[in-house]
Amino acid sequence: MSRVYNFSAGPSMLPEEVLKKAAAEMLDYEGCGQSVMEMSHRSKVFESIIKSAESLLRELMNIPDNYKVLFLQGGATTQFAAIPMNFMNKSGKADYIITGQWAKKAFNEAKKYGDAVAVASSADETFSYIPKTTREDFRQDADYAYICMNNTIYGTVYHELPDTGDVPLIADISSCFLSEPLDVTKFAMVYGGAQKNVAPAGLTIVIVREDILGNAREYTPTMLDYKVHADAGSLSNTPPCYTIYICKLVLEWIKSLGGLEAMAERNRKKAKILYDFLDNSKMFRGTVVPEDRSLMNVPFVTDSDELNAKFVKEAEAAGFVNLKGHRTVGGMRASIYNAMPIEGVEKLVAFMAKFEEKNS
Ligand SMILES: *Cc1c(COP(=O)(O)O)cnc(C)c1O
Repeated sequence: MSRVYNFSAGPSMLPEEVLKKAAAEMLDYEGCGQSVMEMSHRSKVFESIIKSAESLLRELMNIPDNYKVLFLQGGATTQFAAIPMNFMNKSGKADYIITGQWAKKAFNEAKKYGDAVAVASSADETFSYIPKTTREDFRQDADYAYICMNNTIYGTVYHELPDTGDVPLIADISSCFLSEPLDVTKFAMVYGGAQKNVAPAGLTIVIVREDILGNAREYTPTMLDYKVHADAGSLSNTPPCYTIYICKLVLEWIKSLGGLEAMAERNRKKAKILYDFLDNSKMFRGTVVPEDRSLMNVPFVTDSDELNAKFVKEAEAAGFVNLKGHRTVGGMRASIYNAMPIEGVEKLVAFMAKFEEKNS
């Protein structure tokens, strides 16, 4: 068996240890005589799986008791509508920062439900930077302010959170979930699809402060009302059981490596190898301003579309797959999530160096 290095933006690589453990437990989970895929979500065994997933997540992310952890379906995209329905409930205003397509989609959805305003944007430079904002940019009676923390397509990240004054901050953390420590208390809610860094597709995790729950609009579908899921311990209906189980294995893996501090160190090391190469290459260059560079998604280009295409093709043949960049940026993008081993990045950079030598 030979496995490729998968640089996909998501779904993406899972730790090999996790896949092996899941394979070993496939037919018989801990002696219960059945697979996690088959068991009732109301069973004692599954109850212990979802409870340990939650407690591991709380431990790793240091989530305070006044926050609820919800295991949902529908992807990050469904939350784009759920967020305004649940929280645009006092002034009916919400302020969005547009740092890329995901933020823009969330903003466009919110506009359907109330007075959503884009208070800043980096569209003018193809989202290659994080726009600077000050407290004055936010309407102080807004029900919430919204950011996309790590911009998967463009490769930018908030290294420092915007000052929104008293306006509660909500962040999409889909593509930086568990990649480094995050101070949850700075947010009213963070959430993300699991398929980038946490689990296979099918699970969306919402971490939300208790006191802002319970005021969803009357017409909110039951399945989109966070309070319903919070009250039911994410078991209001059938949750994505198997994905939650893999999530638990991934959390155990992170814990075994030393938690989020250790993960951050590993991720900084990986990203540095790639950025250092890009900064010194005469053929390849990164597309993002250095101060806003993501640790997870690294877009880069050459000056020629032909060379880009040739690179992607040859890289794939050499076992480095899914390096083609998003159509709105062009070129390449290497997503180097938690599960990408350091050797994967080292080998990619060696391959890039050889490609540069051969083609210049
Ligand atoms: C992938 C991604 C999404 C979309 O997630 P789905 O689960 O497919 O809805 C939203 N936001 C960000 C930042 C993403 O990376």
